[in-house]
Amino acid sequence: MIVLNLVCEQQHKFEGWFHSNEDFARQNERGLVSCPACGSTAVARLPSGPRVVRARAKAEPAPNKQGVPALFKLLQAVLESTEDVGERFAEEARKIHYEEVPARNIRGVTSVQDAKELLEEGIAVLPLPLPPRSGMH
Ligand SMILES: [Zn+2]
Repeated sequence: MIVLNLVCEQQHKFEGWFHSNEDFARQNERGLVSCPACGSTAVARLPSGPRVVRARAKAEPAPNKQGVPALFKLLQAVLESTEDVGERFAEEARKIHYEEVPARNIRGVTSVQDAKELLEEGIAVLPLPLPPRSGMH
């Protein structure tokens, strides 16, 4: 079944359930599709696609679908666009979130517990598979 967004000649918008696009076309040709508001059978589909397709498009992409090179590029972009705050990550993330310091993108190290707390406070934390750089003092 698909849900189509329909509109009648008087611009009433409504939804219709059909087995398929062809099913709608057949019923519409015979004047079997009518507007629930005014009863008009001059009905057309709105340009937007069936809802089932949109719902599928909204779903999260499968992890690692793009493979390692894409991940590597993402990591590089992150490294180039973020400030390394190291161990102060959780502290800095909170300051930025609560607007105590100018907003900027940061990276650093934090414990799983800290990351969880940040997420619970509504602060976006993205774990990255980067090795800690603590050996580079
Ligand atoms: Zn109507």
